[in-house]
Amino acid sequence: MLLQTQLTIIDELSVTNQQENDAFVAKAKTWNSAELDALMFTLEAEITPQIDCLACGNCCKSLLINVEPDETLEPAKQLGISTAVFEEQFVEKGSSGQMLLNTIPCHFLQAETNACKIYETRFSGCRQFPALDVPNLQQRFFTVFMHYGRCPIIFNVMEAMKKVVLT
Ligand code: SF4
Ligand code: SF4
Repeated sequence: MLLQTQLTIIDELSVTNQQENDAFVAKAKTWNSAELDALMFTLEAEITPQIDCLACGNCCKSLLINVEPDETLEPAKQLGISTAVFEEQFVEKGSSGQMLLNTIPCHFLQAETNACKIYETRFSGCRQFPALDVPNLQQRFFTVFMHYGRCPIIFNVMEAMKKVVLT
């Protein structure tokens, strides 16, 4: 399978493919949910190892990162600072107490290599993205397609799914 990994092309295709993507979602919603998830899991397992996240880094460059209350201790330790300093330097707190990293791109993305400075202790949202191993795709199409034009893994898995579902 020939994969598309050029971010500018993927971004352009996210616009030109809009109608086809809508047709795909409509048809996919008529599938048995478990069968649709099984197709996604199979294609995700096939495609993900072929895509080099270190050559991309686009999620870390473009997403707002959520930080759970118990997720500052370990990265702070890894950086050799207190959680108070970590939160002061890197986190913004919303009025409801929700915490977000306070820059895009992420502070911890190393520009030269796209490696994460706190990879071992990164946040749960970072670990889960792009979350194509999570069931119930039929309930998550909005979120998945929100990132279709940004993430080569999502783009290529959805393109491969379209070939099956739309035939
Ligand atoms: S913490 Fe690491 S994995 Fe998460 S967005 Fe930042 S650079 Fe990426
Ligand atoms: S998860 Fe997607 S957007 Fe993030 S680095 Fe990998 S291919 Fe790029």
